[in-house]
Amino acid sequence: MPDVRTVATHCPYCALQCGTRLTRERRGVSVRPTDFPVNQGGLCQKGWTAPSLLDVADRLRHPMVRRDGELVPVCWDIALDTIATGLDRIRAERGPDAIGVFGGGGLTNEKAYLLGKFARLALGTSQIDYNGRFCMSSAAAAGTAAFGLDRGLPFPVTDLGGADVVLLAGANPAETMPPLMQHLRSPELIVIDPRRTATAEQAALHLQPLPGTDLALALGLLHIAVVDGYADTRYIAERTSGFDAAWQRAMSWWPERVERVTGVPVTEQRQAVRMLAEAGSAYVLSGRGAEQHSKGVDTVSGFINLALALGLPGRPGGGYGCLTGQGNGQGGREHGQKADQLPGYRMITDQAAREHVAEVWGVRPEVLPGPGRSAYELLDALGTEDGPSALLVFGSNPVVSAPNAAHVTDHLKALDLLVVADFVPSETTELADVVLPVTQWAEEEGTMTNLEGRILRRRRLQVPPGHARSDLEVLHGIATRLGEPGHRYPTRPREVFDELRRASAGGKADYSGISYERLDSGEALHWPCPDGEHPGTPRLFLDGFAHADGRARFVAVEHREAGDVPAEVFPLTATTGRVLAQYQSGAQTRRVAELNDASPEAFVEVHPDTASRAGLAEGARARVTSPRGSTVATVRLVPTMRTDTVFLPFHFPGEGRANLLTSGALDPRSRMPEFKVSAVRLEPEVSA
Ligand code: SF4
Repeated sequence: MPDVRTVATHCPYCALQCGTRLTRERRGVSVRPTDFPVNQGGLCQKGWTAPSLLDVADRLRHPMVRRDGELVPVCWDIALDTIATGLDRIRAERGPDAIGVFGGGGLTNEKAYLLGKFARLALGTSQIDYNGRFCMSSAAAAGTAAFGLDRGLPFPVTDLGGADVVLLAGANPAETMPPLMQHLRSPELIVIDPRRTATAEQAALHLQPLPGTDLALALGLLHIAVVDGYADTRYIAERTSGFDAAWQRAMSWWPERVERVTGVPVTEQRQAVRMLAEAGSAYVLSGRGAEQHSKGVDTVSGFINLALALGLPGRPGGGYGCLTGQGNGQGGREHGQKADQLPGYRMITDQAAREHVAEVWGVRPEVLPGPGRSAYELLDALGTEDGPSALLVFGSNPVVSAPNAAHVTDHLKALDLLVVADFVPSETTELADVVLPVTQWAEEEGTMTNLEGRILRRRRLQVPPGHARSDLEVLHGIATRLGEPGHRYPTRPREVFDELRRASAGGKADYSGISYERLDSGEALHWPCPDGEHPGTPRLFLDGFAHADGRARFVAVEHREAGDVPAEVFPLTATTGRVLAQYQSGAQTRRVAELNDASPEAFVEVHPDTASRAGLAEGARARVTSPRGSTVATVRLVPTMRTDTVFLPFHFPGEGRANLLTSGALDPRSRMPEFKVSAVRLEPEVSA
């Protein structure tokens, strides 16, 4: 397909998926925002500079194979033959589970679907998971438990504009997805965040708990809602179950106790509940701040319990939602690249689901492997006696983005074969035995699913440079070399999507009525959309929740300590997050001059008193050390920080990696690592 002059598409970065129009000009590609509902003519700094990604100087253009310690350019046949020979050998020696696959939440729906199929059929491995496990898995598990179905926002973003009050639990959209803020201008905001973020600056009320105590706060807010008479008893009786058990747990979280544990004053707790309860229209939204904990699922359940007690979910003008992070964080979790799921958001242990998907794939159900390891457990097992000795990575940079990063890097180095497909070099391609240059964003066709569950068309403006190929072609090339029939791995996105539709039919995330033709004609289609005449479902749960009895579930939860507890050697709590100008591991945004100039290096935000006690001043180089390792960052004095907490962004490589500090403590259900709480000490760099 040749270059075209202009296309309507979407931003390559976050889950808001702002609408854009790209045009080829004489001096390069220009971008303009469209009036797509989520951005309505707005873009953030990352969206405005996205065309720079199309001509980064060190773009991967040729496949490369490591020889004598160096990555050298080779043709595609040699690269794919090298991979297939290595995989064949490892599989023959150690079985199919000796091969792992690590996907990404930025892959298109078509890529995510074909990757899951490739892993389970061509490789026969159960060992597949993806970096979305690090993103929204806790909210997904809590949403499914409460409502019987997880869709980030079960209502369109534009509904938020009509609210009176919105509570944001651990979300900072003013920096992570700025165009969303135009929908939050009218509502009064309650922000729960240990930091006084750009979003908290705009809030009517900012609750600033100690990291890791959000669940105690959620229990306390539920306590106040009930004791102060704000609970919607009729809604609870008619539309929910499990209230009594949840209340038994919340009963002992009286406001003074919550203040002692979280540091949030009683007056602020009461004010938050009063604002929510007295609003005519209110929403509770969660983000990574509430979710990335070893009790992330319970924490989100705590906030959903609050929303249910106030009678918000499943009503016009109210509800709970999760602000999904990665570009295809929603679609990425629906089509089978999760360790425990098959396409259509079906559980891999469900026999009926296995039979349905096996029929679409033309195989017997018993051929499909069972559940595999979750993302961190997969990385942790690499190179061990029982774990994979080969790993294929698509669209991810775990050397920077995985928790306990030094440990994970050691395990990646211990592999017999590491294959990485990406469009720019990354800290993970540096370790690879084979690097595959793949297409990006404006060089490919496909679909993405944004945080509202709306399916969007990604469109191709230009051909990829050099010898870059689509991930679909890569999967076809490896699969056929492993002896699979080529027709099982289509390379045309539309063909993959049509198969995905059939695989999803009857599942929770049903795409069967959605087609490229309908999307290209401008229809706004949110799943579920079970047939070609169906208008899609922008608002879920208005007529009942997705559990068999139509009721939402309160989930009884109890606060517990984080995996790390600050003590003498590590007296502070470090928490991590994002900045406006960078995205994820920074592999893309660190290559965009305007973004890198705006945020060029690792930093640590510290209260001036805390810095002074550590002998640090503004601009000094600090060493931050946790039980896992240490990182070096430039000190920023921030008077609004808690004195017991420091903050580090996680976008930076090398010795500035924030994830050198974070732990592999996992939520028992979602397997989400605890990115938001690490016990640390702070000192001048030179003293280490
Ligand atoms: Fe892109 Fe997200 Fe910024 Fe929109 S908010 S322009 S989707 S990075």
